[in-house]
Amino acid sequence: MAVIMALVGAIVGSFVNVVIDRVPARQSLLRPGSHCPSCQRALRPVELVPVFSYVALRGRCRTCDAPIPRRVLLVEVATAVLFAALWIGNDRVAPAVPGGTLWTAAIAVYGCVMIALFVIDLEHRRVPNAIVLPAMGLALVMTPVLAWLAPRYAHYGVVAWVAPALPLPLAALIGQLVGGVAAFGIFWLIWRIAPQGMGAGDVKLAGFVGLLTGFPCALAAVFGSFILGGVVAAVLLLSGRVGRKTAIPFAPFLIVAAFAVMVFGDVLLAWYLRR
Ligand SMILES: [Zn+2]
Repeated sequence: MAVIMALVGAIVGSFVNVVIDRVPARQSLLRPGSHCPSCQRALRPVELVPVFSYVALRGRCRTCDAPIPRRVLLVEVATAVLFAALWIGNDRVAPAVPGGTLWTAAIAVYGCVMIALFVIDLEHRRVPNAIVLPAMGLALVMTPVLAWLAPRYAHYGVVAWVAPALPLPLAALIGQLVGGVAAFGIFWLIWRIAPQGMGAGDVKLAGFVGLLTGFPCALAAVFGSFILGGVVAAVLLLSGRVGRKTAIPFAPFLIVAAFAVMVFGDVLLAWYLRR
């Protein structure tokens, strides 16, 4: 089953590639069908098979020999690994927990959104509204539903403690709104104080991440991203791969930290509260 999930992931990954190619250029996701951006030739079905076709074509268009970006392969592989890993993790944990599988499915959806935002920020240095705003709407709808169907995974801890009488979905919604406002607020402040260090896209992305992780996990995601960004920037500077003035896109750090908190937030929070 894990292999089948990897294949499903690779197919989803090839759609994520379409999103990455077309959303920043404001093109339709459906029309025209997949084609070579260099010679405009429409791709044949066999050329649409993820991973396999890239390897078979050795990363080049069959007609015009234009290189296919390596990112196409990397995104397909990343999505395949994500889906297989979630399936294996789900098999170990979820059956014992009500709504566990639903929670895993939600992480798969958010994971695809995050992969798209990660690559678009690396390639274009921006976080498109066309992705981050619908993602925020999805998070706002999904969180109360998940709190209702999968209460074990809802991040309502602090709200439930302050107001124990609140029904879980409402507590989760308040918890996520507080998380969203907190993460958005921290990034907005930094952006106002030092606009050269961060883009408006990062502020919106922080809002999305806060909505996903809720309070107080949003703070862990924000500070985790600062630490991660600091370490990577230091390594790049010391190794001479970037100069002092080079702008390093920040969204990837926020995304990696948010994903870690989303998957391991429960463990982190339990560990912290035990002290
Ligand atoms: Zn071509």
